[in-house]
Amino acid sequence: MLDVFKGELFIHPAALDYSGNTCSHACAYCFASLRSADRRFSIAKLGKLCLGRSTSGALGDALFNLGYPVCVSNRSDPFCKANGDNTRAVLELLDLVPNGVFFQTKGVSDPSAWRALDAFRKKNVVMYITISSTSPEISRRIEPGAPDPADRIELARYAKSRGWEVIIGINPCVGQWMPEEDLISLEDTLLESGIDRYLVMPLSLNSRDATTMSGARREMLEADGVLDETIRHDGQFYHWVRQYRRMNRRGLHAYSVCGPLPCHMDDLACAKLGKHMNSVQHFTDYAWDEHARSGKTLFTFPDFLRVMTDGNPEMAAFSHPDMYKYILCINRAVWKAGGLAKTARTFPDVYRVLWNSPSMVHSPCNLWCFTRLVDGSGRPVRDERGDMQLVFLGGGPIASRDRKAAMTAEDLREKGVILKW
Ligand code: SF4
Repeated sequence: MLDVFKGELFIHPAALDYSGNTCSHACAYCFASLRSADRRFSIAKLGKLCLGRSTSGALGDALFNLGYPVCVSNRSDPFCKANGDNTRAVLELLDLVPNGVFFQTKGVSDPSAWRALDAFRKKNVVMYITISSTSPEISRRIEPGAPDPADRIELARYAKSRGWEVIIGINPCVGQWMPEEDLISLEDTLLESGIDRYLVMPLSLNSRDATTMSGARREMLEADGVLDETIRHDGQFYHWVRQYRRMNRRGLHAYSVCGPLPCHMDDLACAKLGKHMNSVQHFTDYAWDEHARSGKTLFTFPDFLRVMTDGNPEMAAFSHPDMYKYILCINRAVWKAGGLAKTARTFPDVYRVLWNSPSMVHSPCNLWCFTRLVDGSGRPVRDERGDMQLVFLGGGPIASRDRKAAMTAEDLREKGVILKW
């Protein structure tokens, strides 16, 4: 299906996501809702859209018509066995429109998929390839349906030779699967082909995931103690942060989304895609830069709105009756509470709900570099429009349980933080 990119709120430069009906890679760490009934893909519908004959008025179609890029795919692998035929048709259609394409894949092994890429003429393309381990044995255990690491490196070289942006996803970055020495060796290999961009992310697992996952997946994750270490300890957290800091010190371009450090998201892929959606990480980057430039510590909703709509004036003006679905599909409780969450019609409406909702994972108030400003009773100190205010604290590899969720102006003064607009 082609729909708005809403599985994770505002973390990606693509505004839209084409995902296949399922995915046959069967990765141990997958949390894509592969059996969801709303995933059915219609080539006829996409054809109408690409030929300018769609009259549906759906939210995703409207953003597509504005020229925003498409992620192929965020909730499946476009080149896995189950999706190959559909993906070939999708690429032919996407070649007819100016929208950028952000591939997300674990590689290509099927000759017909290679031919489809050869025939794809588009230039505003990003090829993001996940390599979680360079060991074929480990890769076959944790991603049993996916191509071997060598096939993924071959695809990276091919994409580079086509002039596309190439990003290697060390995602998830797990010490047992990708020890530091293996990662350094991968970096050396890729550097020979001029590939130096990485997205490094932690394994995303919590204790609830651990209780609901299938026995087979649990077995895959329990090997080497990965499950236990991720849920009960911070071992994986430090491995992830250590690696992307080391890579940046080495002169590579390593990024992480919603991590403790700035990563200049615009450099990552946005320039190649042309028109793109700003992400919450853009706001993190802005806060670091602005704090370094002027000493600003107090950040408000107008700051966030300005960053999120920067370069996209039509996005600030865009209105659609289904806009509330961004909130509904991410956090039903926030949507149920009513107010703006239920009536949102514009992106600024959704951004405002996100800004003021600590229970939404990607709310700026949950970013590592901020704390919420509260009064002596623990209530948020709000501005004249009723929006929360955030105080910049900087970053550092500090485990979430050691960070306070909110602080008073007195707490902050004691720590040497002066509020500055
Ligand atoms: S490739 Fe992605 S969608 Fe497919 S099983 Fe692996 S993690 Fe899930």
